[in-house]
Amino acid sequence: MENFDEDPLRRNVIEFAQRLSSEGLSMGTSGNVSVRIDESRFLITPTALPYDSLELQDVCLVDLNHPEVQQGLRKPSSETPMHTAVYLARPDIHALVHTHSLYATAFACAGKPVSAVHYIVATMGNEIPVVPYRTYGSPELADAVMQTFRTGLGVLLQNHGVLAAGKTLQEAFYHATTIEYLAHLSFVAQSLGGPILLSAAELDTVREKFKGYNQNKL
Ligand code: 13P
Ligand code: ZN
Repeated sequence: MENFDEDPLRRNVIEFAQRLSSEGLSMGTSGNVSVRIDESRFLITPTALPYDSLELQDVCLVDLNHPEVQQGLRKPSSETPMHTAVYLARPDIHALVHTHSLYATAFACAGKPVSAVHYIVATMGNEIPVVPYRTYGSPELADAVMQTFRTGLGVLLQNHGVLAAGKTLQEAFYHATTIEYLAHLSFVAQSLGGPILLSAAELDTVREKFKGYNQNKL
């Protein structure tokens, strides 16, 4: 690992942190993004630094075995315990995006999961469940996230926001935007008498069909 060039991943973290603001998913310095380097390390945005001024050396390196040890110039995100807990428990997850996006956070504030209102939820699970409220940045929040996030690729954090996951930062970011889209859609469908929800069997069918959703040869 000695010669591993972290710079492309650091650039990746900055790009998606800036897109949190430019795509309206988070206000100010709320939200954070991280990406796994390997089984024992990940990169995460620094705490409380405006995303538009981030430089490569501002991105923080975290050792999963010693997450409390600060490496480098900046203090890592206050949500480092939550990101650490997910990377330790879910080897299938390689990137995380945390947002306070409006409609999804409204569902989180109401303690309501985002249900199967549209087949696209199947990319992440059968619904987006709610993690019970715990103080932001606390080890209790990290524990509560782990109780709910045993499967699937997205959760709501009660009275707080969204945590979306993926194999890459691009995929985790896509899931964060999809959760916001689904929450918005669900809210609009409520005004039309309420959405018709898809069954687990329908979502299984969609997941099978997604395997052929590409431009590869038949
Ligand atoms: P950080 O700036 O520490 O990443 O915190 C933002 C946030 O959303 C906390 O939940
Ligand atoms: Zn937050």
